[in-house]
Amino acid sequence: MPQIIDGKKISQQIKDELKTEVAELAKKGRHACLAVIQVGDDPASSVYVNNKKKACAYIGIESRAYELSENTAEDELVGLVEQLNEDDGVNGILVQLPLPAHIDEDKIIKAISPDKDVDGFHPVSVGRLWIGEKGFLSCTPAGIIQLLKRSDIQIEGKECVIVGRSNIVGKPMAALLLRENGTVTVAHSRTKNLREITRRADILVAAVGKERFITKEYIKDGAVVIDVGIHRDAQNHLCGDVDFEDVESAASAITPVPGGVGPMTIAMLMNNCVQTIRTQEERS
Ligand code: NDP
Repeated sequence: MPQIIDGKKISQQIKDELKTEVAELAKKGRHACLAVIQVGDDPASSVYVNNKKKACAYIGIESRAYELSENTAEDELVGLVEQLNEDDGVNGILVQLPLPAHIDEDKIIKAISPDKDVDGFHPVSVGRLWIGEKGFLSCTPAGIIQLLKRSDIQIEGKECVIVGRSNIVGKPMAALLLRENGTVTVAHSRTKNLREITRRADILVAAVGKERFITKEYIKDGAVVIDVGIHRDAQNHLCGDVDFEDVESAASAITPVPGGVGPMTIAMLMNNCVQTIRTQEERS
């Protein structure tokens, strides 16, 4: 049986550590406030936004909700972001994605001040990540690094293969594994002989966006398998990009879905919010 990497437990540990740190910073007069903007009322986005608000309340971070109508004009949204950039009472700004089709997401991401970019999506944050400067890390990949480290899985010197090259998962994952001295390969839909490549992996990260895509044939015996995907199958069960039952017998460690990578994303978002007050503290 492989080690089941428990994202629920690890994310709870991180949130508890952050709660203690926030209480200590509050004694020194440092407070964090996260502005959360949602445009429209997509049910999945509402669930994510509510979970973020709950996590803020648990840790002791103030959250300010901006719920805008589906018809909000792009300029209006940019205006709100710019206003929040200037507001000294707000340390972090999060715009829940996806946005309605008439709004250019890239334009909104770029409107957020890099100093308040707690999602880590701004080009400045991405650049800082790649050149090894301190900055906000993209939450899901940062959460995966924590899962590995806190499960005593060594990254240094390991063959790491990521399937997927999106801006929010695959690419920042590659940068972070490289930073941890892994040897990194990024595969995608145009990759030839995918199985040969994934079977080299000591650590395989599946961010394909396809239900139960990674089966036993894709993994080397004893590999660590990290499943980023989230899907509802035909039976309405949550499942990932990895066929857990099939892969389980060959992996040395594996993340389940649910309860693996998913809970880490919010924990790392909270970490980025606390980072904003750590930075204030360091500068004073
Ligand atoms: P995207 O759809 O943006 O990217 C999917 C990637 O997989 C692309 O790079 C694509 O390649 C690649 N791909 C697709 N088909 C194949 C294939 N047959 N062979 C090899 N590569 C392939 O997805 P995201 O990165 O945004 O998300 C990935 C998964 O993770 C989704 O299931 C999503 O729901 C989940 N997710 C979970 C989060 C969490 O908190 N747990 C957070 C974010 C995402 P190409 O670039 O060539 O098109």
